[in-house]
Amino acid sequence: MSALPFIPFTRPSFDQETIDAVGEVLRSGWVTSGPKLAEFESTLSEYFGGRPVRCFANGTATMKIALQVAGIGTGDEVITTPISWVATANVILGVGAKPIFVDIDPITRNIDLSKVSAAITPKTRAIMPVYLAGLPVDMDQLYAIAKQHNLRVIEDAAQAFGSQWKGKKIGAIGDLVSFSFQANKNLSTVEGGCLVFNNLDEAKLAEKFRLQGLTRHGIDGMDVDVLGGKDNLTDVNAVIGLHQLKQLPAFQNRRTHLAREYFNVIRTEMKSTGIEDLKLELPPENFTDSNWHMFQVILPLDQLNVDRAQVMTELKDLGIGTGVHYPTITGFTLYKNLGYQIASTPVAERIGRMILTLPLFPGMADGDVSRIAQSLCSILKKHRKN
Ligand SMILES: *Cc1c(COP(=O)(O)O)cnc(C)c1O
Repeated sequence: MSALPFIPFTRPSFDQETIDAVGEVLRSGWVTSGPKLAEFESTLSEYFGGRPVRCFANGTATMKIALQVAGIGTGDEVITTPISWVATANVILGVGAKPIFVDIDPITRNIDLSKVSAAITPKTRAIMPVYLAGLPVDMDQLYAIAKQHNLRVIEDAAQAFGSQWKGKKIGAIGDLVSFSFQANKNLSTVEGGCLVFNNLDEAKLAEKFRLQGLTRHGIDGMDVDVLGGKDNLTDVNAVIGLHQLKQLPAFQNRRTHLAREYFNVIRTEMKSTGIEDLKLELPPENFTDSNWHMFQVILPLDQLNVDRAQVMTELKDLGIGTGVHYPTITGFTLYKNLGYQIASTPVAERIGRMILTLPLFPGMADGDVSRIAQSLCSILKKHRKN
């Protein structure tokens, strides 16, 4: 075991001001959805160029409600990617619709838009792209396909808060855009999420879905005309979000700096270790659009005599945490039992098996990236096939 401190693959940053603000909400007498939520939603709306925004208890609820607002349900098909957090596909099944998995692009690791048209049927109602590690898809191409086939787009931008497309924020453009504020995300409310709309009618409908389908009128009037759930965000979470928003530019600068360092140090280290022939795939070097939610490499497993689990174990023994984001969804028992086949998306199959998330979060210390790159390269060298 290493004497050096353990570096987790990610860790949220909450400053003293945030902690104090939480204390104030707890003492205020109003702790669930109230004034802080309203303030957070209007601040987010401003951030997204004036589009309506509503918050929810988590990103999963946010995406479920996006599907409900779009009227997607039994008998409908939704096109998505097999390399995502399982929530993306689960919410599609949850509303009674059928996820259709299109293979990913080996470079961006996002849905391969050139393969989407071939997957469209008369039952297709929506495309749900995921911006893995915060890298958006080609938005021009995405919305051209949607327009041509008259489809809704529900952007799973859970990982893309702060990402951009051609100088515009993800969320400031597009159809329904869903974010998560879960603890690992670039902006966190501990748990939470928000949906960005194009019109107030859909925002109002989402408000009903998040609270039992309820509308109020007058001082004592209540009605329920749709089936809603209990997916509201509390003021405790909202006040954390307000403080995270203030820190977001600093968080982003730090993430971008660390990502640049990864590219430099990994390349230098591979040379000096003499393993330049190993095909370790780095992420696209995109410093205009990506928010660097994660730094993910594809391990050269074909050139090693160990598997990913062994690489992760040895990194862990050196005090370095890593993650897998994600195994291919169609490999899960639930999805296999529904008849999906992992072999039908071969690029996703390979990447789901070989992808590895290295630590990247604003609180990382200077020197951590070097230590991680050195450790990874020494492990690769030790286990290369002869
Ligand atoms: C985090 C995440 C979600 C779900 O968000 P929760 O807030 O955890 O419910 C959905 N999709 C992707 C791609 C995510 O990373």
